[in-house]
Amino acid sequence: MGVQFDNVTMNEALAQAISLLPERRGAYVVTPNSEIVYEAIRDESLRTLLNRADLVLPDGAGVVLGSKLLKTPLKEKVAGVDFADRLLGHLAETGGTVYFLGGKPGIAQLAGKKLLEKYPDLTICGMADGYFTDEAAVVAAIQAAKPDVLFVCLGAPKQEKFMAAHQAELPVGLMAGLGGSLDAFAGTVKRAPRWMIRLSLEWLYRLIQEPKRFGRMLRLPKFLLLVVRKRMRGAS
Ligand code: UDP
Repeated sequence: MGVQFDNVTMNEALAQAISLLPERRGAYVVTPNSEIVYEAIRDESLRTLLNRADLVLPDGAGVVLGSKLLKTPLKEKVAGVDFADRLLGHLAETGGTVYFLGGKPGIAQLAGKKLLEKYPDLTICGMADGYFTDEAAVVAAIQAAKPDVLFVCLGAPKQEKFMAAHQAELPVGLMAGLGGSLDAFAGTVKRAPRWMIRLSLEWLYRLIQEPKRFGRMLRLPKFLLLVVRKRMRGAS
């Protein structure tokens, strides 16, 4: 559908991300789900921002299902929040640093507190909420902190725009656009139970938790409808 995903498992995604860290050239990873792909189908500038990323990970059962229906199957769902968790584990083991940008005021701090309980050796070298007005000041603070990894959790497409716009001036190892992941780490938004994730029902759990997402979530069936149409055209 015009979005060029990397066909990688979680382990492969992690290995590629880790290999980018020493380059410190502001590489970035995006984690589109089917809602974002649906937007990108209609918005060329968003599509370009996604395709310019060094890693494009399928954050959702809908994307993986779509890839299978189009006979270009992706190996597995690589949820952004799980990828982020694994990357933090690596940083804690190797003495790397992370900077958290995004979420409502206080969320990054709460996420940091919870994550330090899980990874006591993790170094969080800075944090800022995602409701800033002075973007240049945010960029300067990240430049001063020089993190190995920068989590950019501003929601799509704001986070993709931020990463692409500041790539050249942010000599970090890797930036990762991770949507609501800081809310998940903080515990203010709960992850679905494992059985629901296994049954590809994480979207349903999210909808029950945050009914205001209903309008946005209609993009999921709309996305699948476009996929089915494309498949039928391809077959005829
Ligand atoms: N957010 C932000 N600044 C903004 C808009 C949103 O920091 O100007 C944060 C918001 O607080 C939330 C995240 O971005 O933590 C977006 O979450 P959402 O669940 O909508 O993201 P998704 O992963 O579904 O794109």
